[in-house]
Amino acid sequence: MIEKKTNDQVDETDLIAIRKHLHAHPELSGKEYQTAKKIVSFLRQYQPTRIIEHIGETGVLAEFDFGNDGPTVLFRADTDALPIQEINEFEHRSIYEKVSHKCGHDGHTTILIGLAKQLSEKPFSRGKVILLFQPAEEIGAGAKAILSDPEFKGIQPDYVFALHNLPAYPLHQIVVRKDSFTASVISLTIKLFGKTAHAAEPEHGINPAIALADILKHANQLSNNHPEQTDFSVITPVHMELGSIDFGISAGYGELRFTLRTWTEDRLQSLCKGFEQTIHTLAKEHGLQTVIERSQHFSANQNDSEAVDLIFKAAKNNNLSLLHRPFPFKWGEDFGLFTQHFKGAMFGLGAGENSPALHNPDYDFPDQILDSGINMFYQIASEILQQEC
Ligand SMILES: [Zn+2]
Ligand SMILES: [Zn+2]
Repeated sequence: MIEKKTNDQVDETDLIAIRKHLHAHPELSGKEYQTAKKIVSFLRQYQPTRIIEHIGETGVLAEFDFGNDGPTVLFRADTDALPIQEINEFEHRSIYEKVSHKCGHDGHTTILIGLAKQLSEKPFSRGKVILLFQPAEEIGAGAKAILSDPEFKGIQPDYVFALHNLPAYPLHQIVVRKDSFTASVISLTIKLFGKTAHAAEPEHGINPAIALADILKHANQLSNNHPEQTDFSVITPVHMELGSIDFGISAGYGELRFTLRTWTEDRLQSLCKGFEQTIHTLAKEHGLQTVIERSQHFSANQNDSEAVDLIFKAAKNNNLSLLHRPFPFKWGEDFGLFTQHFKGAMFGLGAGENSPALHNPDYDFPDQILDSGINMFYQIASEILQQEC
């Protein structure tokens, strides 16, 4: 049995205590209501020029306006947790069943709160820094919700940056890449409508089984799971359903779910379109009706080369080791949508070679790297806001 903690108090001046508090109180994508309230309460002590609540429904935006015109730079953290049962036994373990921070978004959020502290202690003399606490990253909905919120329309950042912690990389190491940093990803649900029949007389019905097999085979043929190649594309079957467990009935309905990944948005769109067309053709050959739904779209993080140079400089000034990725990461990260609209970049921050992997039930964000994240963001802001006019 999981013991429920009732103590909601946290020392708001202690970043590690904040991170652990967020870890113990995780909320799923789109449900980050209490997290948002806590973020606002943590932020208020650093007196940003303004705070916008409920942006993109459960997001929070804080603006530090230093006046005298100058550029605007936005830093984004994600705030949502995952539907995973935490197996850790430490004091700050999740108080909820089957919800936990297994991607380190509790750490990313704390880094931005730490940045707010630095900005209040060492303000700039011009420009604006925007701290964006974005919800619903894990389901690819949060970035879209923020960008379409009318409150965001007035922001227009000149630069946007985000980081993600990276298990398997040395603590504090900065991992970066020009061009794509993460894959373009989309999920497809394929519904095949046939006709049930007596299992003894399948010829009187339309059974989608062979069409499902044809589609699976075709998906495999389209895949080129070689990340070092520019035409990398992988179509992964994630779920399948056919008929019901009734031995007397020949199946009349089938469903398939895939994720598709490529290195660029253009390639993802053409792969997806071609795959959908073939599915329609194959289904038609078998006399089936088809419905295809697209969901959970993550645009590739398209790193701008000037923004990447600023990351190089910041890593150097902070004495942090720097690693260039030879090819992008295969996972999706919805900050990609910001890089499709604004000049910017995402980079990785090493979480330790021995850290459990992201989305694993024993993962926990390493507090040692909070300062490296904060210092990287502060340094990037300082390069942009303190350059000559
Ligand atoms: Zn994740
Ligand atoms: Zn994540």
